[in-house]
Amino acid sequence: MASTDIVPTTAHPVGGPSLPQERRLVTAIPGPRSVELAARRAHAVSAGVSSTLPVYVAAGGGGVLVDVDGNSWIDLGSGIAVTSVGNAAEAVVAEVGAQVQAFTHTCFMVAPYEGYVAVAEHLNRLTPGQHEKRSALFNSGAEAVENAVKIARAATGRSAIVVFEHAYHGRTNLTMALTAKNMPYKQSFGPFAGEVYRVGMSYPYRDGGRTGEQAAAEAIRRIHTEVGESNVAALLIEPIQGEGGFVVPAPGFLPALARYAHTHGILLIADEIQTGFARTGDLFACQHEGVVPDLITTAKGIAGGLPLSAVTGRAEVMDAVHPGGLGGTYGGNPVACAGALGAIRTLEEQDLTGRARRIEQVMLPRLQALAERHGVVGEVRGRGAMLAVELVEPGTREPNPAATTAVATACHAEGVLVLTAGSYGNVLRFLPPLVIPEPLLLEGLDVLEKAFSQLG
Ligand SMILES: *Cc1c(COP(=O)(O)O)cnc(C)c1O
Repeated sequence: MASTDIVPTTAHPVGGPSLPQERRLVTAIPGPRSVELAARRAHAVSAGVSSTLPVYVAAGGGGVLVDVDGNSWIDLGSGIAVTSVGNAAEAVVAEVGAQVQAFTHTCFMVAPYEGYVAVAEHLNRLTPGQHEKRSALFNSGAEAVENAVKIARAATGRSAIVVFEHAYHGRTNLTMALTAKNMPYKQSFGPFAGEVYRVGMSYPYRDGGRTGEQAAAEAIRRIHTEVGESNVAALLIEPIQGEGGFVVPAPGFLPALARYAHTHGILLIADEIQTGFARTGDLFACQHEGVVPDLITTAKGIAGGLPLSAVTGRAEVMDAVHPGGLGGTYGGNPVACAGALGAIRTLEEQDLTGRARRIEQVMLPRLQALAERHGVVGEVRGRGAMLAVELVEPGTREPNPAATTAVATACHAEGVLVLTAGSYGNVLRFLPPLVIPEPLLLEGLDVLEKAFSQLG
């Protein structure tokens, strides 16, 4: 057999946008092949790794995932805000395929290549602010956050990092310290990194309706009193919190923090790992209030599903690190960079910021109608294609994680993938692929409504 005839060891079904865009249940959930895989998994995969769905995926594309038993799911999760351009998106497949055939890895620190430079150029062009920028590429979101902290400390000569209640920044040792929630992220994994200080977040539904300015003033007073401005390298914040429950700070909160940081030589790091790349209807969520961060971390939606992350920021900050101080074996791997080039082209050519705004127009009235009919819905919030409902005990603001799980499970039984979130586990969050066909999105909402009706 000639080397060009080498075939994959398992048959690979074809996904991508040509998959039938339909919800289709043809077996019990999970079907027999998924049950078989679950049994193999139990003996092979650490119990510390869990999955939302009980089924195993064979293909994905557009707004659907197809499982190994042939069931076709409506995907309202995008692999946690990753496949915004759709699974196996055409341009991503083309770029990645060509790159895989050319070369798969050299290590940018050893033998550089154009894809890395091109991705950095795109990031510098697309992220907020007209100033001169530089980028560095890594593998995961947590790794980007870790490097943003390293860069901020090197550039300022200060060590303290200020983070916020309900924040999520990753699961490595430093990012566990930055992340707020104990279970499941931190429990039994300490001790954690030092010089991390947590202050209050603007959370209009749960902070007594303080204005953004009031909430910022309170956070600033804490920083001044408990840390001291001259010790603070950076404020690190998600412009809309992701795992924390899609908490949208009150208007004015982010601009007030940005002004404060600027006045005191503190760097503002926007963690846009979940909010970035058109998800919220802007390319980056900071743009909604005209906030220009000094550093921005990106990952998730950056590369159509390939593992890639980045730190982008002011040239003088990014270049303050000594040569060789940043890197990693795989950071900015050429195949992942090819994925990013395909994803960024798709975002721009298909106006996916416009699609995200359209998804909000379609979903928001339906979610608000749910809130009117069901006392269990405490609040509907979010922006663009990053929307959520927070569930409470009717008539109170007591978190209701049981109802949240029940609704999610009922959706899963009907072939609609929804995710949960929130410090109290009581938020249903929706992150559809931005390319989801509208009829499919509407059908997903029908199933969600039915799930709420079954709550009784
Ligand atoms: C997912 C996420 C991270 C961590 O990214 P990983 O790729 O899982 O390490 C960090 N910050 C935010 C806001 C995230 O949503």
